[in-house]
Amino acid sequence: MGTDFIDLHVHTTASDGTMTPAEAVFHAARSGLRAVAITDHDTVDGLAEALQAGIKAGTEVVPGVEIGVDFPGEMHILGYYIDHENGRLTRELAGLRESRNLRNPRMAARLRELGFDITMEEVARAAGGLVVGRPHFAEVLRKKGYVKSTEEAFHLYLGAGKPAYVKKDKISPRQGIEMIATAGGIPVLAHPHHLRVGGREEFEALVRELREYGLRGIEAYYTTHTAAETAYYCAVAAGNGLLVTGGSDFHGSNKPEIRIGKGTGGLAVRYDLLSKMKEVKKISGKGGTRGVSPESK
Ligand code: AMP
Ligand code: ZN
Ligand code: FE
Ligand code: FE
Repeated sequence: MGTDFIDLHVHTTASDGTMTPAEAVFHAARSGLRAVAITDHDTVDGLAEALQAGIKAGTEVVPGVEIGVDFPGEMHILGYYIDHENGRLTRELAGLRESRNLRNPRMAARLRELGFDITMEEVARAAGGLVVGRPHFAEVLRKKGYVKSTEEAFHLYLGAGKPAYVKKDKISPRQGIEMIATAGGIPVLAHPHHLRVGGREEFEALVRELREYGLRGIEAYYTTHTAAETAYYCAVAAGNGLLVTGGSDFHGSNKPEIRIGKGTGGLAVRYDLLSKMKEVKKISGKGGTRGVSPESK
């Protein structure tokens, strides 16, 4: 079928993307992708719909999730082939959404202090679902003409350290990795470029530490990674016995410059990376989307 290309990092309306899970899967199929992973922030809510759509669309759907964990820069952990019906996982994810819900009204208040006419209700309406994130604040600011783009909203107000930014409580990298592994998932370090660690030695020590906690892969192929960065991350993965993965971080029209499977144009992720992940999944033998572990209900 189609091509040999995949995208293992896609957001939907279950978090801060603009396509529904089914739309995103059909969009991946129409774009000629052989497989797509749905990786919404702090929720597995879109996965049942996405998996169903995959059957109709004839594209392989990988159930996933993306979790932001506590780190001086920005650290996100992706989880693949998680058992999205695992009761412990869904409870823990609900806890993460709770800390979002504590942060969000404080960000709305900051924006009002800055003189913008914006309410939490408007932001929640823009989100339309369980997970309300900063891109939804950006959307409201954009629609009201306060900024021209999502990028501008982050640059001026919403990004880390900017005037409307409020940090949310996060779990540790170790807890994030373990949360995914406990639900039978494969934990992968997302977009390492965003970590903003100083140098190579520091990055490589960090990877060794995360591997101790159960990390299984690195997202070396990513929209904003240069060819040199990708090659470097692939080498670090190989040196540590870790998988290599890749994805665009597609968010639909919230980030119109990013195309599914292609990023800003140069991205190409091959199916054989997913084949290797499926081998690891089989060997580690956890329940994944089929089995239910004893502690899960
Ligand atoms: P939140 O989880 O609510 O803190 O928001 C995280 C989301 O904001 C992720 O989807 C990121 O892609 C997006 N984001 C973070 N920083 C930026 C930035 N500087 N420009 C655009 N989007 C960003
Ligand atoms: Zn997002
Ligand atoms: Fe991320
Ligand atoms: Fe993402």
